[in-house]
Amino acid sequence: MIRINQITDKVASYIDNADLDLIQRAYVFSAQAHDGVVRRSGEPYISHPMNVANLLADMQLDEATVAAGLLHDTVEDTDTTVDEIEELFGSDVADIVDGVTKISKMDFESKAIQQAENIRKLILAMAEDIRVLMVKLADRLHNMRTLEFMKPVKQRLIAQETQDIYAPLANRLGLHRVKTELEDLCLKYLKPDVFGQLSEAVSEHRAAGEPYIEKVISLIDDLFKKNSIKGQVHGRTKHLHSIHVKMEQQGLTFDEIFDLIAFRIILKSLKDCYAVLGLIHSLWRPVSGRFKDYISIPKANMYQSLHSTVIGPDGERIEFQIRTEEMNQIAEYGVAAHWQYKEVGKGSKRGKAAGTRDAERYTWLRQIMDWQRELSDPREFMSSLRLEMFQEEVYVFTPNGDIKELPDGATPVDFAYAIHSEVGDKCAGAKVNGRIVPLHSVLKNGDSVEVITNKNRMPSRDWLKFVKTAKARTRIKQYIRTVERDRAIALAKELLEKEGRRLGINVQKAIKEGYFLKLAEGFNCGSVDDLLTQVGFSRFTPRKVLKRLYAVMNGEAYEEPKGKDKESEADAKKKPSSDGLIISGVDNVLVRFASCCTPLPGEPIVGYITRGRGVTVHRIDCHNVKNFEDERLLSVTWEGVEEKPYPAKIKIKCLNKTGMLGKICVMLGELDVNIDSGSFESMVDGTSVLEFTVEVKDLDHLYSALSKVKALKAVQEALRVS
Ligand code: MN
Repeated sequence: MIRINQITDKVASYIDNADLDLIQRAYVFSAQAHDGVVRRSGEPYISHPMNVANLLADMQLDEATVAAGLLHDTVEDTDTTVDEIEELFGSDVADIVDGVTKISKMDFESKAIQQAENIRKLILAMAEDIRVLMVKLADRLHNMRTLEFMKPVKQRLIAQETQDIYAPLANRLGLHRVKTELEDLCLKYLKPDVFGQLSEAVSEHRAAGEPYIEKVISLIDDLFKKNSIKGQVHGRTKHLHSIHVKMEQQGLTFDEIFDLIAFRIILKSLKDCYAVLGLIHSLWRPVSGRFKDYISIPKANMYQSLHSTVIGPDGERIEFQIRTEEMNQIAEYGVAAHWQYKEVGKGSKRGKAAGTRDAERYTWLRQIMDWQRELSDPREFMSSLRLEMFQEEVYVFTPNGDIKELPDGATPVDFAYAIHSEVGDKCAGAKVNGRIVPLHSVLKNGDSVEVITNKNRMPSRDWLKFVKTAKARTRIKQYIRTVERDRAIALAKELLEKEGRRLGINVQKAIKEGYFLKLAEGFNCGSVDDLLTQVGFSRFTPRKVLKRLYAVMNGEAYEEPKGKDKESEADAKKKPSSDGLIISGVDNVLVRFASCCTPLPGEPIVGYITRGRGVTVHRIDCHNVKNFEDERLLSVTWEGVEEKPYPAKIKIKCLNKTGMLGKICVMLGELDVNIDSGSFESMVDGTSVLEFTVEVKDLDHLYSALSKVKALKAVQEALRVS
């Protein structure tokens, strides 16, 4: 069993003045918390966190991460709380332990294969701090190493989850060593037969290949000496998982895997890498198409190396990987290894931006290289490593446990539309983590979302204010357009019938008998409904349509409307815009202002679809509005209001003094308020009440005029009335 001193010694070897006390205290605390618990292997439980901490020290991580490794299971498996950890070990350690606990609590096992990519993103989004992932991966690696003590069913589940989620995560973070070991362990439990055969074949091959490897190594060493280059060369067999993948993908037998033996050459400088590559190529013929320069164009996980396959001394193909010590450290331990290199990235160009959005995200790793150049302290470096990728998305669960990816800020309505358009349209409510929430609530990573549908429910215009996905937005707008079209058609029918009665034409009958079909063609409309929609939106006046209808019904040739008719059409076209109104996406509806409340530009208003008279606009607080049918109300806003007079009623109460009426009238005139009509009444208490209908530009204009009138000494009251 590992001793704590081994771990602290390791940390002291790569961090000057390391806070070893933190690690010691974490060890004592963890040992006490897990005291009496035994692992399936028969070892005391503390051996697991110790091994995890040791792996983290191998990766040369900071003290907080190593301490968090020791404590990582205390919150999940013992009475310990995150608050306690924070109090004793600080917020850094507590945050890491908290993050690891949150990920551990999620059950991905059964969903792993289908949902792997989304689960990986969810974990990345939840982790926020890269150290959380380091601890989680070290935890998983040790659990995989000790998987033999689990029941076979559990072994397969854990191995599958590791293969689908954790090995790719390790790869994304550039933890090559962790990744390859995880993959080989997965192979062992998922395909024990393949694993057995391969490991046997590899060890035979290795034994047989030993003299060959030594021969190549000595040739390379000679090359170094002759050219006074300092470097190391290792021969190694590929790891089992990658041999297996290659055999399966390319349909090759074990013997056909030509570059089974690869040589890794590690050098002092970038310049040496290219020099040695040239020397090898002059010694042995390179195989065309097998040279890759990952130094100029690093992989997304920051992997840098030169790869080349050549025809070796015995006519066999051998692969070389050539890199600097620093690149090798990164290849094995990923981004975590960076802090110790000050000269990082010199001479390396930024890689080509990858095509996909996700691939671009991973280039954040490369940015980290820039940051760390300014930081000499590993502690500072690690805490600056916040995971900023995937923070633009949120990952939530369906009731079945599937994961949906939504943009940050998405709501249950977005979620409902992501499930299915029908679910979105009928979305009446939502439960998040079992609790009913408003439809505009913002979803968080890991939320479980359930949509409550109601077959009578319809998409609401209000949803447009908070939905984040294009799909939801498009569907809601589409629905509103249909509804508005239906409204326009109903309105058109009413208008036509009313006008028809005046002219003695039975419009309903004319529609039934198909006359409108002919009429629609004449108006260049594709269908009767199209024509009616145009009438509802006031593009054609009912009068004009009926005139033509009359002609069609009587078999007369159609006459171009002239004079007056043209004028009224132009009038109808112009009118709505001159009213300065935007009516909820509907263009050109006949609009009138209600005389009951005379709304002014700037105040809250609402539209009401009247029967046969277009839309009437009321003040939102008008006493008539509350009696209206809800489905006939339209939202209306003022926009681009033209400078034109709007009527308003006002009431002024003043002392009945000589010249008062004249004074007030003159004042209003000076304020540009035109008096349309008015009444004047003297009261018994010696006051007068004046009631005027005036014309003003807008609400501000009215109120400023009223306040100036009110400022007159004799005036007691100056109010707007409705
Ligand atoms: Mn653990």
